[in-house]
Amino acid sequence: MVIDCDANATYAPDERIRGVIASCLLDLGNPSSLHRGGQRAKALVEESRASVRELVGAHATDTVIFTSGATEANNTILATFGKLGTTISTRIEHPCVLGPVKHLEAAGHKVILVAPNEHGVITPEAVAAVVTPETKLVSVMAANNEVGVINNLHEIARAVRALAPEAIIHSDVAQLLGKGVVNIYDMDVDVLTLSAHKIGALSGTGAIVARHGIDIEPLIVGGPQEGKLRGGTENVLGIAVFGAVAHMIIDELPHRVEAMSRTRDAFEALIKSEISGVEINGASSERIPNTSSVYIPGVRADDLIVAMDLERILISSGAACSSGKPEPSHVLSAMGQDEERVRSTIRVSFRADMPEAEVSRIVRALSSAVERMRKVAPKR
Ligand code: PLP
Repeated sequence: MVIDCDANATYAPDERIRGVIASCLLDLGNPSSLHRGGQRAKALVEESRASVRELVGAHATDTVIFTSGATEANNTILATFGKLGTTISTRIEHPCVLGPVKHLEAAGHKVILVAPNEHGVITPEAVAAVVTPETKLVSVMAANNEVGVINNLHEIARAVRALAPEAIIHSDVAQLLGKGVVNIYDMDVDVLTLSAHKIGALSGTGAIVARHGIDIEPLIVGGPQEGKLRGGTENVLGIAVFGAVAHMIIDELPHRVEAMSRTRDAFEALIKSEISGVEINGASSERIPNTSSVYIPGVRADDLIVAMDLERILISSGAACSSGKPEPSHVLSAMGQDEERVRSTIRVSFRADMPEAEVSRIVRALSSAVERMRKVAPKR
């Protein structure tokens, strides 16, 4: 049996969505059509919109725009607000924020990227230090995809609002959703971006959630879909599944968090006792409950991924989007880790439904691969 320890790359859907998919496939129309097929599809989309609002504590008057994923959502937010003045973001954002940031800079807009501290945290003080009255957008991820460290958006927002009351505060919550409480009001942010496939729905679906009164500019123009804020026929299947999974998460979050934490803690305790020199990156910070960024001296993460794959255990060396690329993780580098540590760090990210008993199989496989690799290249 394959053991999936790469849930941060994509959280493969659970069995229960099969029923949702089957019912959608029966007679899905175009939500813009006036006939019953279209109206049924439209109702499904609106039901999901309400579920997504509920998932993040948004009000009925707040805007939910369905997109093709968090990448499109982040691009839309950066394009809308990044041209209004100075943008503040961070060095540890996902490439789908850092890419648009480069575009803003190339177009002559000012962007300041805040570095994390050595524990991977973007502190409110570090953000406050660069906020000025010219700051129009602050974009800070809620939880990092590689090390799992959580940023305190509420405190960051408080610091920003004191210095630049008009700035829009945005957070990419793709990795916190389904692994911790996301509430747009408690976090005191204006706009969130969500990714459906990180919570067990389908890839190719995501959303922007914006508080009432925050005006988003469409990135994709065309038809009047999504309140004229995102052109193109809606991905009805993806949106319907997103809504159904949102409901599951609302009901099951405490249980999921507890199960993930138990597995992650058991894994970290065992790997530290079985493999010499192991350290967990970001361990002293608040983290999402399913993610371990594990430094294993004397091995290369890429070799370990292949060795684990042969054992049918799926792990990663950092962001999924970076795999295959030779550059080391920008997140660990921004945390001040040296190249050796960066190249010897794996990311293990658990699903809530992984049997805890699998932890010993994973650590046994890692331990024997590490032993073999250290014998071959003891000084590396
Ligand atoms: N933001 C974060 C923090 C992510 O981890 C990812 C995916 O890895 C994305 C955005 C991109 O999400 P999507 O695949 O929905 O475009």
